[in-house]
Amino acid sequence: MTANGHIFFALACAICAKHFELTKVIIQADWWHLIPAVLITCLIPDIDHPYSLIGQRLRWISLPISLIFGHRGFTHSFLALIFLSSFKIICLDNISIPDDIFQGMIIGYCSHIIADALTPAGVPLFWPYRKRFGIPVINNKKNKNIEQKICCCLIGFTILFPIFEPLLVKFIIPLAIKLF
Ligand SMILES: [Zn+2]
Repeated sequence: MTANGHIFFALACAICAKHFELTKVIIQADWWHLIPAVLITCLIPDIDHPYSLIGQRLRWISLPISLIFGHRGFTHSFLALIFLSSFKIICLDNISIPDDIFQGMIIGYCSHIIADALTPAGVPLFWPYRKRFGIPVINNKKNKNIEQKICCCLIGFTILFPIFEPLLVKFIIPLAIKLF
C-alpha cells in the first residue's frame, strides 16, 4: 500500500474508533490528540523499507532494520504491537503522555498492519513465524484507485452510520432474523 493510502486508512480507522467507542479513553479523546497520534505511527511499520517515505528520511534506522528483519517482517507483526504497547509501561511511565495520544498511536500502528493485510502480499502477523496472512481486497495493479475508494467508503460509512443505525436496528436486522 502507498504512504497516501496508509494515511487515508489511518484517518478512517481513527474516525471509526471514535464513532464506535472502541475504548473509554477513545470516547473522550481529543481529536487534536487522536489525529496527530494516528498520523505519527501509521507509517512507522514501513521503517523496515529504506525506500519507503519514512525509511528515506530515517535511513540510518531503516537500513539496519531492513537488513535484520527484511520488509514486512517484525514491524508488521503482533510482536511489534506488543512491543509498542509495553513501551509506555517500560520507558514512558515517568513521561506524561496522555492516554488518548498513546491509544491513537496504537490505532495508527494497527491501521498500517490491517491495511497491508488487505493487499496480496499479506503480513506475517505471528512473526517470527513467517507465514503471511491477509484478505487481498486491495490490488493496486488491477485497480489503481482502490485504496482511496476503500478509505472513502470507510470514512463515509463511519460518518453516516449514526443516521442509518436506527433503520438497521428497527427494520433491517429484525427483517433479516425473520427471513432466516
Ligand atoms: Zn507496510
